[in-house]
Amino acid sequence: MTEEQANIGVVGLAAMGASLARNLAHHGNTVAVFNRHYSRTETLMNEHGSEGKFIPSKTVEEFVQSLAKPRTAIIMVQAGAPTDAVINELADVMEKGDIIVDAGNAYFKDTIRREKEIRARGLHFVGCGVSGGEEGALLGPSMMPGGTDESWKTLGPILKSIAAVAEGEPCVTHIGTDGAGHFVKMVHNGIEYADMQVIAESYDLMRRGLGMAPQEISDVFAEWNKGDLNSYLIEITSQVLSHVDEKTGKPFIDIVTDQAGMKGTGTWTVQTALSLATPVTGIGEAVFARGLSSEAELRKEAQEKVLQGPDPTESLAKIANDADAKKAFIEDIRQALYASKIVAYAQGFTEIEAGAKEYDWTIDLGAVARIWRGGCIIRAKFLNRISDAYGKGESFGSLLFDSFFKQAVENAQDSWRRVVSAAAQAGVPVPVFSSSLAYYDGLRSKRLPAALIQGQRDLFGAHTYGRVDEPGAFHTLWAGTQKEIKQP
Ligand code: NDP
Repeated sequence: MTEEQANIGVVGLAAMGASLARNLAHHGNTVAVFNRHYSRTETLMNEHGSEGKFIPSKTVEEFVQSLAKPRTAIIMVQAGAPTDAVINELADVMEKGDIIVDAGNAYFKDTIRREKEIRARGLHFVGCGVSGGEEGALLGPSMMPGGTDESWKTLGPILKSIAAVAEGEPCVTHIGTDGAGHFVKMVHNGIEYADMQVIAESYDLMRRGLGMAPQEISDVFAEWNKGDLNSYLIEITSQVLSHVDEKTGKPFIDIVTDQAGMKGTGTWTVQTALSLATPVTGIGEAVFARGLSSEAELRKEAQEKVLQGPDPTESLAKIANDADAKKAFIEDIRQALYASKIVAYAQGFTEIEAGAKEYDWTIDLGAVARIWRGGCIIRAKFLNRISDAYGKGESFGSLLFDSFFKQAVENAQDSWRRVVSAAAQAGVPVPVFSSSLAYYDGLRSKRLPAALIQGQRDLFGAHTYGRVDEPGAFHTLWAGTQKEIKQP
């Protein structure tokens, strides 16, 4: 490598790309930088050029020439068509063996397509999930790269140099080929939705149910953060709840509109799970809860003149007004949150296993849990336990069957059931608490009413059914003799 050449390049210098480029430079990399409009490159150089070695370029050609071989360029531009445009511009100028990395939030099927197209042109294409937002990109993200083993040889040391570090290990691992990295990042985001929703349900029960003030609830979350639930999301929840609005002096939480936004990765997680026939009920309910919150007009109409129900504070007043009962109920909520969170992770990891099977990836689930321990939004103490569970090397159907998690849910379940029934009685919606409990009960039921559904399907559509006492498919002549016919 000559002095003028960079070992890594970044294309797209908006919030994420600029932070990633600076992070790379902070860790001894020489970073080639390029942005469609030069003004962003100029801003980066003027404000942060002295932080490390950057080589700015005004054209794609110059940018590619400034890279040492094999040329490695990380794209951080708007997802979708802009990403395709930039990939093609780079591929036109790059040479065989060079590596294009898309670190944006791509849909994994796009990554599979792009990898195939770029491989056909003799280049490597790596779809890399990046979590941690702008701060993570600057100070150490959790990264989930896909792509070939060969590209990982070049890219691995560079990504390890900038990743978050958890318990001495960099939060990056080669997830698998083509779209595996973006698939795992997608499920990460889905789990994030469920994790945020169970925290929100806990808040709602304390706020509307027990009538607690935001600061009091903030203190509860701060306390919870010292135990099994220790995580970034619990920590920031406490911070948000204790924040006071500068303009009004009111608790910040009360001046924020109660309509949650989303950018689509949760929806992708659920759509993909549906196509893989893998129930991710917690993630699904979390996505739907955000959707419902955003139905502003429908909600207004429902509240004003249509839908009646119990008043949560009145319903839970007896508990709220008795210090011991209140303390016990708050502990019940903590347990319900913990159990529902375990279910959400179990479902997410099951989806990753199903995806790996469908798309022929070898994914080390223990390694996935390890790289989520730092840098990313769902980082949590709890992930050590998941890593331990998968690290045993045994194959088990669900995280819920691992002895640690099995015991944790067993310990929590009385509380969980009390919370779900109290919430239903009080009229507080807890879609992830209750659907996670239904999933748990569904899994452990010796006999499900699916038998009745099979009967119905056979009656109206001759879809056939199996018997518990004999192999094969059967159909009953419902409209005629009622005789059963074994299918050939
Ligand atoms: P944006 O998604 O806002 O994208 C802006 C960047 O894309 C600019 O550099 C812009 O160039 C470039 N761009 C847009 N269209 C084109 C085009 N047709 N050709 C070339 N360049 C184009 O930037 P962010 O930094 O927020 O995000 C970058 C990527 O990272 C996205 O894929 C995002 O989903 C992903 N991501 C974002 C996270 C976040 O927390 N924000 C977290 C993890 C991933 P110009 O300046 O010339 O307009």
